[in-house]
Amino acid sequence: MILADAAMAPTSAQSPDSVAAKAVQDQNTNVRPANMLRLMRFRSVAAMFWVRRAVADAARRLQAPTCQLIFKDFTDRSGNVLSANLSRLGMTPAEFVERGLLFVDASDERPCLIGSRGAFTSPGSRLIFVCASRLVPMNSPPRSQIELLIIHEALHALGLGENPPTSARITSQVFLRCGS
Ligand SMILES: [Zn+2]
Repeated sequence: MILADAAMAPTSAQSPDSVAAKAVQDQNTNVRPANMLRLMRFRSVAAMFWVRRAVADAARRLQAPTCQLIFKDFTDRSGNVLSANLSRLGMTPAEFVERGLLFVDASDERPCLIGSRGAFTSPGSRLIFVCASRLVPMNSPPRSQIELLIIHEALHALGLGENPPTSARITSQVFLRCGS
């Protein structure tokens, strides 16, 4: 099973969940990121645990300099390299993934109910909607694929749009930099 994802217009990504949107708004205005991984609204402890581990392992991948190059491969819509956007936040790539993002279980939301999407967000939003029911061990694609998906979403969080580049193109570049 190949996991897909989607970077959506801010309104469509945030409308399903105004509470979560408010939470990320609070987070974005919070200068100092909390020293912990943020997970919200997970319906199952197993799914939460599974995503938590995948995020930690994604962060571990991002400690490798070759994997960090992924942030130099893409720019946001204004042409800023994503690594520059990350530096502005004062976080390392691993810190950004582990402490700079908010993961919300959106298993029951429409984007998770159609297709094979594993996660979605909107460019520049640090709120990552996770289709957790699709990621739990029972239904799961290989863990490495989830880890790479999390890195893919981190790129959107730093401002990367989609189409162009296509989701598949982003995923293949993440695999090239961080896949081994
Ligand atoms: Zn994407």
